[in-house]
Amino acid sequence: MKKKMFFIGSCSLFLFSCAVAQPKGKPEDTEVYTPVPKVVTPGKIAFETPPSDAVVLFDGKNLDEWVLTSDPSKPATWTVNDGVLTVNKAAGNIETKRSFGNYQLHIEWRIPATITGKNQARGNSGVFLASIGKGDAGYELQVLDSYQNDTYVNGMAGSIYKQHVPLANPARKPGEWQSYDVAWTAPTFNDDGSVKSPARVTVFFNGVLVQNDVALLGPTQYIGKPSYSIKHGAAPIKLQAHGDPSEPISFRNIWIRPL
Ligand code: MG
Repeated sequence: MKKKMFFIGSCSLFLFSCAVAQPKGKPEDTEVYTPVPKVVTPGKIAFETPPSDAVVLFDGKNLDEWVLTSDPSKPATWTVNDGVLTVNKAAGNIETKRSFGNYQLHIEWRIPATITGKNQARGNSGVFLASIGKGDAGYELQVLDSYQNDTYVNGMAGSIYKQHVPLANPARKPGEWQSYDVAWTAPTFNDDGSVKSPARVTVFFNGVLVQNDVALLGPTQYIGKPSYSIKHGAAPIKLQAHGDPSEPISFRNIWIRPL
């Protein structure tokens, strides 16, 4: 029985990785380059302390609320120093211990002032608004240096990766702290696994509206069209350790208000 279950598990994992690894087409097929969102200089925003009912996910001290995505039984081994959380690319993605349905999320991030690289290989990370499996499975709000860094516009900072282009580009210079404020409505599913209501998201980037209650077509797909192929409930928030060779980015002041 054990053996059989193992077989079924490996088989479905195998099928899943097949579906992810070998979809039809090329990554370039789903890249969008125009129109380019207008550049907006954001206003000054002070460090925002969490409201009284927030669940604080990172307060600058430790990663007690986080685990490794590759093995949630293990602590998140990214670097905490001086109140700042920095990506450890070797450790891979990290995600929250807790799962969330609908919520309001605040998160701040900083591209290193010394960042190198270009296009998608310049400070690439991401906030997965719901993590629904290992690796990059989930719904990605892209994090990238988008200050004078051209790339496909549905892959710039503030985009819902390869689904929704941001309404504007309020990116700050590398070295400066930036913020995302997100209102997330989780998708719901019918008993047969089909989607009942799609995920919806509103995003403010440095206080500027960049996603206005957009509906998602499904979890993020690097290649091919997204669709709701996996029925899921409440899910962790996940941060991306992207494999690009540029210097790792940092996060701070992460809090969430479940709705
Ligand atoms: Mg990313």
